[in-house]
Amino acid sequence: MQLPVLSPLSISPPHQQSGGAGGSFAVDNYGRPITYLRLALTDKCNLRCTYCMPENMRFLAQKHLLTDEEILRIVSVCASFGVRKIRLTGGEPFLRPNLLELIRDIKHISGIEEVHITTNGVGIADKVPDLVRLGVASVNLSMDSFDKQRFHELTRRNEFDSVHATFHALLESQILLSVNAVIMDGKNSQDIVPMAELTRLHGFDMRFIEEMPFNGAKNHSSPAIAWNDAAIEAHLRSHFPNLERAGRTESATAMLFHVPSYKGRIGIIAGFSRTFCGACNRIRLTAKGIVKTCLYDNGVLDVKQLIRDGASNDELRERLLDCIAHRHKDGIEAEEQSHAHGEFFDSMSAIGG
Ligand code: SAM
Ligand code: SF4
Repeated sequence: MQLPVLSPLSISPPHQQSGGAGGSFAVDNYGRPITYLRLALTDKCNLRCTYCMPENMRFLAQKHLLTDEEILRIVSVCASFGVRKIRLTGGEPFLRPNLLELIRDIKHISGIEEVHITTNGVGIADKVPDLVRLGVASVNLSMDSFDKQRFHELTRRNEFDSVHATFHALLESQILLSVNAVIMDGKNSQDIVPMAELTRLHGFDMRFIEEMPFNGAKNHSSPAIAWNDAAIEAHLRSHFPNLERAGRTESATAMLFHVPSYKGRIGIIAGFSRTFCGACNRIRLTAKGIVKTCLYDNGVLDVKQLIRDGASNDELRERLLDCIAHRHKDGIEAEEQSHAHGEFFDSMSAIGG
């Protein structure tokens, strides 16, 4: 299939990318520009969030993870066809040795304009100045509750104080901050309003995420969820009657709201309802080096194996562009196909969220 590209029609090789605004972008078979790569740097984690993994999670052996060199190569190939934004995630990205050096090196790749991080914030309050120094564009901090006991129950670890310290260190820094909370009935749904209320005094985005079927259990079907985007919005409106819509985030996943006079914003991410797929601009690389062009597909290319089999950058680029030219229309279609093949989803820690 011929890959469509937005004007101008030619795509420069990586070493010629200007990195400035504009340029050319690969667009997929549904006309969506692909400008965003999410990289799971490891599947390992120092928490055990119940919605993400079992307590006895088995992590990948080191040899199955991409090396720093492999990651940098893949990023530069992606930059050559228009990827501008990278999100480092995991597992817990701060468990990756040399994370700061990796950020520095990714930022040096021609064409890459923004590096973002998603973290659970355990033990990293003192790393925030490094993130500022390295020019990290934003941090998504996962905090499912600001109640210490409920945080412990949800994460199975007693790390609330450490994560809370990171929250404050980030608030005091210049880095754009979003706090992400996966909402589960009775487990933290009682925290929606108190967490939204934090945006009165603090200038960050408090985002509520629908629970998705990626908890590492080998299920072949997605259970219905009590707290979908509509339920979360209705609950917020019952407490904040003057809640205003504030558009969508740049990557379209979060619907944003604002309470007049509050410093921050409130977001809802309909990852289960999948209302944003029409504007999806991202591809993913899992911890073991598999490309996913949809969160709900089961992997479309083993790019790590390609590299280890000696593929050239041109071959990598061609194979990646081919994946982009064959994306699913949306996450519903991708999930149906995964289930049709009898596959079940990995833990989110291997995928990167
Ligand atoms: N460990 C880091 C963290 O927790 O922020 C990064 C990796 S984590 C897999 C990335 C994001 O995925 C987090 O915001 C987390 O809340 C979200 N996530 C994990 N499992 C999920 C699930 N089953 N449904 C919805 N979101 C999930
Ligand atoms: Fe770890 Fe993040 Fe998964 Fe929680 S959501 S277990 S912090 S990878």
